[in-house]
Amino acid sequence: MGTNTVYEDCDVLVVGGGMGGTGAAYEARYWGRDMRVIVAEKANIDRSGAVAQGLYAINCYMGTQWGENNPEDHVRYARNDLMGMVREDLAFDMARHVDSAGHKFEEWGLPFMKSADTGRYLREGKWQIMIHGESYKPIVANAARNSADKIYNRIMVTHLLMDESRDNRVGGAVGFNCRTGDYHVFRAKAVIVAAGGASHIFKPRSVGEGMGRTWYAPWSSGSAYALSIQAGAKMTQMENRIVLARFKDGYGPVGAYFLHLKTYTQNAYGNEYESTWYEDTKAMVGEYIDHHPTPTCLRNHAFIQEVKAGRGPIHMVTKEAFQDPHLEEVGWENFLGMTVSQAVVWASQDIDPKYINPELTTSEPYVMGSHATCSGAWCSGPEDLSPEEYFWGYNRMMTVEGLFGAGDAVGGTAHAFSSGSFTEGRLAAKAAVKYVKDLKNEKINVTDKQIDDLREIIYKPLDNYKIGRNEIVGGTVSPSYLLPIQGLQRLEKVMDEYVGGTSVNYMTNDKLLERGIALLDIMEEDFEHIGAEDLHQLMRAWELRHRLLTSQSVAQHTMFREETRWPGYYYRGDKMKLDDENWHCLTLSRRDPETKKWTMEKAPVYHIVD
Ligand SMILES: Cc1cc2nc3c(=O)[nH]c(=O)nc-3n(C[C@H](O)[C@H](O)[C@H](O)COP(=O)(O)OP(=O)(O)OC[C@H]3O[C@@H](n4cnc5c(N)ncnc54)[C@H](O)[C@@H]3O)c2cc1C
Repeated sequence: MGTNTVYEDCDVLVVGGGMGGTGAAYEARYWGRDMRVIVAEKANIDRSGAVAQGLYAINCYMGTQWGENNPEDHVRYARNDLMGMVREDLAFDMARHVDSAGHKFEEWGLPFMKSADTGRYLREGKWQIMIHGESYKPIVANAARNSADKIYNRIMVTHLLMDESRDNRVGGAVGFNCRTGDYHVFRAKAVIVAAGGASHIFKPRSVGEGMGRTWYAPWSSGSAYALSIQAGAKMTQMENRIVLARFKDGYGPVGAYFLHLKTYTQNAYGNEYESTWYEDTKAMVGEYIDHHPTPTCLRNHAFIQEVKAGRGPIHMVTKEAFQDPHLEEVGWENFLGMTVSQAVVWASQDIDPKYINPELTTSEPYVMGSHATCSGAWCSGPEDLSPEEYFWGYNRMMTVEGLFGAGDAVGGTAHAFSSGSFTEGRLAAKAAVKYVKDLKNEKINVTDKQIDDLREIIYKPLDNYKIGRNEIVGGTVSPSYLLPIQGLQRLEKVMDEYVGGTSVNYMTNDKLLERGIALLDIMEEDFEHIGAEDLHQLMRAWELRHRLLTSQSVAQHTMFREETRWPGYYYRGDKMKLDDENWHCLTLSRRDPETKKWTMEKAPVYHIVD
């Protein structure tokens, strides 16, 4: 396996063809007309990433042309929701360009709902515009296909290549085709990582046969983080994991319900409960609880406390809205456009929301950089906006030269969502093309040795299995290897129990983290013995490796930030208060690729918008 090697030499390599990656491919062609632009994607870009199933709303659209919102307003909104902690330069930069993404999508055939009164895009809330979005992903994929020289589908990118003629510069990426087993070597002058965030690093509420039922796409394996971490890039805000309050078991979206259908929540006894926890929350976070809108984590906090107090489950009151046939239709359609499984769950459990108020739940934590949290790589901002500490030459370039990020990969840019991630891809590609042009005739040097060494590492799990399998006559438990599913469950258990998952009500502390970090380190040693039965399992093995690296980063960051900044996302039991005096800052980490040691530091959070 891996004997057939496919080489590709290009100017710009895009890793991951989701929202960020498709935006990057589109824009790279615009600025780099004569450049070779390649996309390497684990699945198939037509139905890959978090938007695979479609969406019902584009969650980030300013509407500046109609005077609805300005980029500054969005920075204030994201800052407020993240309890002060965002990269305002990156957020502003995304917001000032994001509307044009919406306009492109419409031009490419995405059907938008329009207001009958104004003719403008129909708003769901202040920032969201409603779409008939089942085909959202194929539409943006088509734009990428028309732009890139080649799209390689079914390639699991496992490692970045490094330039050997200059320290700390990227030289491309390697991976394998999950169907043919071919080894793929992409030598590139610039790489844009847009490989999405991480689900399944914490134990999901649904286990066993239902373990795929998570809110976040189960195939999002933290590759955007792991690839960057392996290459020595600095990461930021990795402690800032996300927990979602969603419909129970199907994780169907609640945005349209709250904003459009005007449904509301209550506890099991029919009472409003958020005000019950006002004083408790104020004691933890001070005046942040008085902010409007209430930050997402603080609403989760009230939910979690109410359930802990024995007054769960929390219900969404749908019975009133669903009496209106139009709203009833919107309620169901909302799922059909993006989470069909929620409708199936309700049907299978005899829940008709017209007569029964469905239960909500809080999800297991995930790691994302583009939703209501902002974990990711520490990237340069744009030249015209960024303070000195936030700028090192090229927009969205990580601390590794030539390595760029978009979407979930980029830290500090919460609330970008699908349109904002696409926009970030465009911004990163524009800068990457400039980087390649500035290189002029300078060559990237990636030796055969580097390529051969990685090949050896990548396919080793197949050998581990082949050899170890001879030692047992049946079953799945071997003295010589660990299967990816076994490793995944072990990882999820460690993260759940020690780093603040659902079974401990999102609670952790310094002692738990210390132990969790030690267990993750042991797991890293054991990964050498991972066994893969076939190519699909080889992909699972590398997904596990990426999840493990992401988890280590999350645990290190959670240990470093000695406060509870986002109650409702997680709690540091030994530091139960928000501490603006010491922790009104961003957290940074770097894992030394040679020694594998982590170093942590603080970075200033600059408020560049009033
Ligand atoms: C459940 C859910 C609901 C959402 N709802 C909305 C909404 O209503 N409106 C809205 O605007 N936004 C919504 N979002 C946000 C939006 O989907 C994300 O912000 C956006 O998809 C992030 O873009 P990305 O490119 O970073 O990641 P993705 O779009 O997830 O793309 C990542 C890509 O990388 C590929 N990949 C992963 N690993 C590898 C690897 N190792 N090698 C090669 N390729 C790899 C994946 O297959 C995928 O194609 C939602 C997100 C989720 C999870």
